[in-house]
Amino acid sequence: MTDPLAINGGTPVRSELLPYGRQSIEEEDIAEVVNVLRSDWLTTGPQVERFEQAFADQFGPQRTVAVSSGTAALHAAIFALGAREGDEIILPALTFCATANCVLYQGATPVFADVDPDTLLIDPSSVEALITGRTRAMISVDYTGHPCDYDRLSALCEHHDLTLVDDASHALGARYHGKAIGTLADLTTFSFHPVKHITSGEGGLIATDDEEWASAMKRFRNHNISTGFRQREINATWHYDVVGLGYNYRLTDFQCALALNQLSRLPAWLERRRQIARAYSEAFRELDAVHPLAVDADVEHAWHLYVIQLDLDQLTVDRGEVFRTLRAEGIGVNVHYIPVHLHPWYQDRLGTAPGLCPVTERAYERIISLPIFQGMTDSDVEDVIVAVNKVTEAFRR
Ligand SMILES: *Cc1c(COP(=O)(O)O)cnc(C)c1O
Repeated sequence: MTDPLAINGGTPVRSELLPYGRQSIEEEDIAEVVNVLRSDWLTTGPQVERFEQAFADQFGPQRTVAVSSGTAALHAAIFALGAREGDEIILPALTFCATANCVLYQGATPVFADVDPDTLLIDPSSVEALITGRTRAMISVDYTGHPCDYDRLSALCEHHDLTLVDDASHALGARYHGKAIGTLADLTTFSFHPVKHITSGEGGLIATDDEEWASAMKRFRNHNISTGFRQREINATWHYDVVGLGYNYRLTDFQCALALNQLSRLPAWLERRRQIARAYSEAFRELDAVHPLAVDADVEHAWHLYVIQLDLDQLTVDRGEVFRTLRAEGIGVNVHYIPVHLHPWYQDRLGTAPGLCPVTERAYERIISLPIFQGMTDSDVEDVIVAVNKVTEAFRR
């Protein structure tokens, strides 16, 4: 006999909810931010370049551009590659809405590809079937922190003359066949939202080897103004040209100081995330109803998320009930993601409908994200394992 479920009045595994993700902020981070607050430059100052340079040194791209969010980074990337009305850009249906919105911001059309049933990464065969004369680019999403199949995606892009954009919001520090994420696509975007690997509160960055694109994105984040403020100060001039439609997507200096300090701790954090993932995978091996996502050989996973797929044939309830029951046990589970093409606005605007991406839609009924973040203790990890065992046992068919 197992303990009664908390949802039925039993004692929960945890009295306080364990979130699925959480930032780690230490005194050192706070001191770095305070130093910048006391300096002359709160924004467009020297910390921005320091962070951009450190990021490039750590992961290897030639150029980096820091911006105010991961969404701004995606928008800047789609701007840089020159997408416009009439162009189609292929992206996976299983992602955050921002991956599709950046395409729409530039007037182009998102086209939704299906995913692989075991990894839930964009399926290169599905991409290939969607390529038309209008296809301009493809956005890969390294969902959960697992790099996509870049051998096949790069070959497809080369063959059809498409630009490859990697939305690597989940994959900071991941590697594919030994190569760092940030060097595998023409443009790679990152997010520094608090649930991601490192944070600047809000923030993002684009990595590329293309110098012209990098310059264009630096203008784009600053209203598409031709020169920077500091440059004008040095040259003793007020004159500048607006050379296109731009935005204010600047990242502040105190945010860059925070991100820079966080970056130095990333290797240890990645190791902790890998430990947690190993503990889960080990523990769930014997559970028939729980299938962790597959991990390919020769990748280094960054473990932004730990996603399981439920085998609903082994359970008496659906995913919603498992989700609510785990929440009642104090486990802050989540679902990543509602397929983008099923949200009402995209259905109205793009004419998408259920049935468009069957593998994604089937997976969506089965996925749950378990808590994973560097600050989790061994006992937090154990609580998640106990709760998943308790709940799947209680609902076993
Ligand atoms: C977090 C995230 C974004 C957006 O990043 P923000 O910094 O929140 O704007 C985009 N795509 C994916 C896959 C994400 O996880």
